[in-house]
Amino acid sequence: MLNLPTEMRVALANRLWPFELEAAQSADGGRTHKWLFRTADRASIEAVVMGYDNRTTLCISSQAGCAMGCTFCATGQFGFERHLDIGEIVAQVAYANAFLADSPIAGSPARVTNVVFMGMGEPLANYDNVVAALHRMIDVIDMAARSITVSTVGVVPGMRKLAEEGLQVGLAVSLHAADDQLRTSLVPLNKRYPLQEVIAAAAYYFERTGRRISIEWTLMASVNDTEEQASKLAEIARALQAHVNVIALNPTPLTSQQAPGRSSVDRFMEVLRNHGARATFRETRGKEIDAACGQLRVRSAADIAKASTSE
Ligand code: SAH
Ligand code: SF4
Repeated sequence: MLNLPTEMRVALANRLWPFELEAAQSADGGRTHKWLFRTADRASIEAVVMGYDNRTTLCISSQAGCAMGCTFCATGQFGFERHLDIGEIVAQVAYANAFLADSPIAGSPARVTNVVFMGMGEPLANYDNVVAALHRMIDVIDMAARSITVSTVGVVPGMRKLAEEGLQVGLAVSLHAADDQLRTSLVPLNKRYPLQEVIAAAAYYFERTGRRISIEWTLMASVNDTEEQASKLAEIARALQAHVNVIALNPTPLTSQQAPGRSSVDRFMEVLRNHGARATFRETRGKEIDAACGQLRVRSAADIAKASTSE
């Protein structure tokens, strides 16, 4: 609306967001920024933007909190607040684009080129809003569908439905364990949708969309970093022609699991590759600001608790 005076545009722009910025932190020499937003009804939303050489990736939330209760995840430990609506999901991308236009990350595109639904919440548990938000990102914000990745813990009906939407978005499946017993101990939803059903739905997604699945694996010391798990995972990945992304656990205040040491990461990756899986170990961005799933919220809630007890 360039026909309006600048002052009015600025005043309007500040009121357009469906949330307020409650906290912002930067890390990795300014290449990672994390935001905690707060809606009028006090729901928390977090997003992280990360600059790379030829892409700028934004990690967004689909729900405030999450009902899935994965034992190692800070968001899961907090429980479910509510679904985010379509505007609240899309506004995270618009906010990041507005931020980057003013303060680009040096050497990275000055707009969001990639979106991953790896912030708070289970996107396929908020299916209709997430799919509507995907359409808006593609049709209105002009993002390439192929540069958007939905990450799921294995909501099988949602995976199958998404396969039939005719969208070219990527699908990441958070597996974390290669047998039902271990997986159920980490991901309670595995009782409802066991591993074989999740794998079959992933295969269906690949078949329908032609897009290769990626498998997410959060590595935890002495839990899922064994050679046995690595070889079983490699078998699953090969059958799906999937790429495996391994990240080290970011320990949360409430989990008993520990991050793996460097040598067990190396051994795990070696076993995967020796068994013919395509796999990458992803260095965690923003470690010093707790940028992994759900962590900003923990810090902020802990600060709030501290503040209220010291009053
Ligand atoms: N609910 C979806 C998307 C949000 S979680 C899902 O589970 O896929 C995004 C990713 O963060 C998942 O792969 C999840 O396993 C990972 N994650 C959660 N807690 C983590 C932690 N403490 N350390 C490292 N990764 C974590
Ligand atoms: Fe929810 Fe994903 Fe965290 Fe599990 S890992 S509790 S599904 S946000």
